[in-house]
Amino acid sequence: MIAIRGGTILDGTGGEPYLADVLVDGDRIAAIGEVPPIAGRELDAAGHYVSPGFIDLHSHSDYTLLVDPRATSAIHQGVTTEVVGNCGFGCFPIRDPELARRAIYGYTPDVPIDWTSAGGYFDRLQAVHPAVNVVSLVPNGQLRLTALGFADRPADADELALMKALLQESLADGAWGYSTGLEYAQESAATEEEVTALCAEMAVTGGLYATHTRRRDDGAADSVAEAVRVAHAAQARLQVSHLVPRNGIEEARRSVEIVEDAWQAGIDVEFDMHTRLFGLTHLYAVLPPWVLAEEPGRQAELLRDPAARARMRMHRSILSAGNDWSRVVLLDNPFWPQYARRDVASIAAERHKDPFDLVYDLLLGAFEAPYRLMVIINAYTEEEQREAFAHPLCVPGSDATTLAPDGPLAASFFHGAYTWAAWFYRFMVREAKLLEPAEAVHKLTAQPAARIGLTDRGRLRVGAYADIAVFDGDRLAERGTTFEPNQVAVGVKHLLVNGVHTIRDGEATRGRGGYVLRRGRG
Ligand SMILES: [Zn+2]
Repeated sequence: MIAIRGGTILDGTGGEPYLADVLVDGDRIAAIGEVPPIAGRELDAAGHYVSPGFIDLHSHSDYTLLVDPRATSAIHQGVTTEVVGNCGFGCFPIRDPELARRAIYGYTPDVPIDWTSAGGYFDRLQAVHPAVNVVSLVPNGQLRLTALGFADRPADADELALMKALLQESLADGAWGYSTGLEYAQESAATEEEVTALCAEMAVTGGLYATHTRRRDDGAADSVAEAVRVAHAAQARLQVSHLVPRNGIEEARRSVEIVEDAWQAGIDVEFDMHTRLFGLTHLYAVLPPWVLAEEPGRQAELLRDPAARARMRMHRSILSAGNDWSRVVLLDNPFWPQYARRDVASIAAERHKDPFDLVYDLLLGAFEAPYRLMVIINAYTEEEQREAFAHPLCVPGSDATTLAPDGPLAASFFHGAYTWAAWFYRFMVREAKLLEPAEAVHKLTAQPAARIGLTDRGRLRVGAYADIAVFDGDRLAERGTTFEPNQVAVGVKHLLVNGVHTIRDGEATRGRGGYVLRRGRG
């Protein structure tokens, strides 16, 4: 048993804070109130908030938790549950591991893909004992790669039937919904009808449809409208992922209005947003599907061929917004260290190259491990962040993978990993003063729990799972920065995951108590 003494309770509902002790017995909360002396461990929470553990509704930790299950970046921000399988990326179903890694964040050859189904992946993940709970959606990118490879066309009837069968199998294995990433090469040819048909298969389970919409710059609001049409036709609950587009606050406001109108019309819709002022992706995302489908050797040939380059330039990608290459900044990488932290336009000017040719040159120099070449796209403003996060239908998410500053992921980066919940609380509560502590905690706990359909997490109540954060409301803050991102947050004093003491007096313990949660399996 563990007793947490004298803290101020923020129970996740957004209600008034109050002083109480919390008693934990096994993996559950046994009492909240005045707890008599116990024989077990006593934790002092005086001067601190005691809240449910934070839930990351938009995570990409599917694979990094297998590489390093400690989830160090997350637990130091009070995170106890991650929802993976977002944006059409994820770890199942898998038929061809070589193809599948195109829709997995943080892939390295060090952890081979030796499973095929959702159930196989869940078993594999539970076996490494992740420090946080994991909930997964079924990623459309893997459905499509399995059924069509990189074919740049809508699915035919047989392919659609296969995708439906794989989706149903994954849901039966315990996935919590379905996600799309329609801006990415492996999904961009999926029609609205195709997505609606799959979404309807999922919707009968009551799960969540989360979508990274088709256009996130010009046409972004129209793509949100498409998502609403899909949800309406499929009768699905809708989560619009990282809603704020990359092309300014007017498009952001139009997008929010479309969500509000849909909500008014009775559609169960909310949205989320990451906390970075930039987008983050692989540089190879600039390439069209007909190049990405090729083996690395053939890709290099195409990248060297001027005629192929001329065709590649016609492809509209996540990087081509407004053709403004000064917004695209190369991150630290082993292939082009001299250009790290610089924008593509300035590197191109220095090398007397057209930006597209420069990008193709950079990719040629990295074609053995293209996933190590990542870029940020400066695209958002603090004004957009304030408006989005103050909105009652919006919750924050990391839109990143869990990482750790030591161990096998020490050299990896994914902005947001170390900073999201800590940034959100510091910025919205202490700096912008737009949310009360109880409201911010609600957006980090009960609200995302309700979206995904978790009934026994996200609130501090007797009988719920003991996912509990004890944090200092004056200190909780991120330390990671744009170019030095890998620094753990400060301010979380204690963290329990299913009753396992995971952070003690600000330091990570060796405890790893996370469960891989399977829908319908208690
Ligand atoms: Zn996304």
